[in-house]
Amino acid sequence: MEIIPRLHRISGMRGANAYLLLGSSLTLVDTGMPDSYETILAYIDSLGLDARSLDRIVITHHHLDHVGSAAALKRRTSARVLAHPDDAVFISGEQAPLPPQSPVMRFLFWLMAPLMPSAEPVSIDLAVRDNEHLDLLGGARVVHVPGHSPGAIALHFPSEGLLICGDAIDHRRGRLGPPPKGFTMDMGQAIASIRRMAELEFDILCPGHGAPLVGGADERVRAMVRGLG
Ligand SMILES: [Zn+2]
Ligand SMILES: [Zn+2]
Repeated sequence: MEIIPRLHRISGMRGANAYLLLGSSLTLVDTGMPDSYETILAYIDSLGLDARSLDRIVITHHHLDHVGSAAALKRRTSARVLAHPDDAVFISGEQAPLPPQSPVMRFLFWLMAPLMPSAEPVSIDLAVRDNEHLDLLGGARVVHVPGHSPGAIALHFPSEGLLICGDAIDHRRGRLGPPPKGFTMDMGQAIASIRRMAELEFDILCPGHGAPLVGGADERVRAMVRGLG
């Protein structure tokens, strides 16, 4: 589905959103679950584009529902994988993902671990850090938004008035809020990151889950932040 010219939300994804950015080359932001790569490749084909020419995959953070198809896509395309160094160690499999902070979730994770699918490790080709400029759409700036995970990033596009935020801001069931507590490493840090994003200007918010918020999105995020006290 086209959100604005040159920005698509891949249709038919299971779990998390993936966004396709068109330009002189193709860029994907997040990759869904391990079985999502076929949906992504078919979507690119449906636009009449050559999926093999996918040039970059930006990972907002290391969680399975965002990084799941990165390795499969990297094999099938010419894409380089970009992520923040603080999450790169988990994405490349150098370090096991950290268990969640909440003791209850920690126990559940331990219980569920043998049943959970794991993401195939993928090496990071390019580390991206806070404030870095990326040549995407009219120009993007990387915003490091730690909390949900140590190396979570958002992408801010000032000329499009757009923020792609991964799971740093939650927009499920039509409500804006902080990321889910049970899956968030450091809630205090996550809220500080939301406050930082609330200072940016963006009309459109593209979250990791739920529908994009189109029109006055920054005002809605500021209202949510005021509600946090
Ligand atoms: Zn997610
Ligand atoms: Zn997440």
